[in-house]
Amino acid sequence: MVGAGLGGLATALRLAHRGHRVTVLEKNDSTGGRNRRVQVGDCAFDGGPTLMMMLDPFKKLFTDVGERLEDHMNIKLCDPSYRVFFADGSQIEGTPNVARMVDQIERLSGRHEAERYGKLLGDLAELYRISIPNFVRRNYNSMLDLASPKALGMVLQHHMLDNLAKRIERYVEDPRLRMLFTFQTMYLGLSPYDAPWVYGVLTYMEYGEGIWYPMGGMARIHESVEELAAKKGVEVRLNANVKAVRGKTVELDSGETLTADAVITNADLPYSEETLEKEARKSKPKPKRRYSCSAYMMYIDYKGELPELLHHNVFFGSDFKGNLDALFHEPLSVPDEPAFYCCISKRSDPERAPEGHENVFVLIPCPNNDYPMSEADERKMQEYVYKRLHQAACFDKSKIVEQKTYGPREWATDYNLDKGAAFGLSHDFMQSVCFRPDNRSKENPGVYYVGASTVPGNGLPMVLISAELVEDRLVKAGLA
Ligand SMILES: Cc1cc2nc3c(=O)[nH]c(=O)nc-3n(C[C@H](O)[C@H](O)[C@H](O)COP(=O)(O)OP(=O)(O)OC[C@H]3O[C@@H](n4cnc5c(N)ncnc54)[C@H](O)[C@@H]3O)c2cc1C
Repeated sequence: MVGAGLGGLATALRLAHRGHRVTVLEKNDSTGGRNRRVQVGDCAFDGGPTLMMMLDPFKKLFTDVGERLEDHMNIKLCDPSYRVFFADGSQIEGTPNVARMVDQIERLSGRHEAERYGKLLGDLAELYRISIPNFVRRNYNSMLDLASPKALGMVLQHHMLDNLAKRIERYVEDPRLRMLFTFQTMYLGLSPYDAPWVYGVLTYMEYGEGIWYPMGGMARIHESVEELAAKKGVEVRLNANVKAVRGKTVELDSGETLTADAVITNADLPYSEETLEKEARKSKPKPKRRYSCSAYMMYIDYKGELPELLHHNVFFGSDFKGNLDALFHEPLSVPDEPAFYCCISKRSDPERAPEGHENVFVLIPCPNNDYPMSEADERKMQEYVYKRLHQAACFDKSKIVEQKTYGPREWATDYNLDKGAAFGLSHDFMQSVCFRPDNRSKENPGVYYVGASTVPGNGLPMVLISAELVEDRLVKAGLA
């Protein structure tokens, strides 16, 4: 296994449970990949993912190996899910509690909008119920798999390919609610204006099921998987950078080579193909692929209190569409008023920051390295964040004890993410479901992929499903 991200560790655990000997080679000095831990000053941070959603794949991994998630992680529902701050000064709290959500919508936008929420949630629930088993949790052998009358019928009946931003207009009129129920595609690094309606399942995950948090931090997710894998004999080698995959042999920087029955690479797919498998692919033209946006992070040890902020908070600027166009459409730029997300995990987990401090995490979606950001761009984003946090929560810049930033360049070098696209390959229509790069290498039989840029896609639950799918491939190939 190349890479000890969640996808790599989950696959290693699954295969070890089947009795296989698995060695995981990780280039960095810690496991978890993007689900990293970060320490700044006296505060502990979730360095990448902060939202644990769609519990089913998490639970399934544990039950498939004869365990119970609850025995390994203490997970807590965040309710309210988040507080949203709009540019006009209004606010709303998202919650999976339907009665409270209806009440919130009525207060923000009036009775008429509130009365329509049930219909929206019901349709999204149905979309989720149909699309996950039929389109997401499955391997594809060819594009024709999607062309069966049954599949086409479901696509048409549930309007899966309609434009998300357009279709939401049928359910809500208030532009703030339209943002509220579509911005979730940003979790995939995708604009809701470019996304098909089927990605409304992300909205359902939040409003139908809720957002969870594992006590001790998001890293508890991969750590508990790794602990179980170790018990089943998986060997994880850190600081073991793989430089090439040739057939079923991998070569490390040290010159050491290892040969196995199958090689699975959890390094992001474009990098695995273009760099690790360079030799096998040298006669092939480089496929034209589209990438997600990136993420600019601020991790702040703040001395003081910000009681207006919940565990999760979302800030919208005044021009949502303009903001997204700047990130996804040429000419790329850093928006003047970027939407951003702010997390203070101390709210659910007091041990993550000392008394009198707040662990303020900020994620600003930003262009990937197709637009190399300048220092001035970074300063502009930081100043905008300080201003909005000040307006919303009396944030005072002079109370910053220590701050670290992290951006597209670092995502690229630390995790081998092409173009520093923090969410990997884009999820536009032509890179979704059966059009997403397959989890088997065509050039190197015996080489497989697991993780965010292969099927089904980005996000911790999707990466866990990716591990299920690669296990299925190996079983069918008689290798597991
Ligand atoms: C800022 C941010 C916020 C996010 N928020 C959320 C969220 O709230 N909820 C959610 O569900 N998802 C979220 N995601 C998405 C989620 O983090 C990813 O989908 C998931 O972590 C990807 O896991 P992975 O196993 O595919 O890849 P990775 O985590 O990237 O793991 C791949 C591993 O391979 C290693 N590797 C690469 N090249 C080599 C090599 N040559 N040799 C050896 N090892 C190598 C890397 O070091 C890394 O450890 C977020 C992502 C980002 C960036």
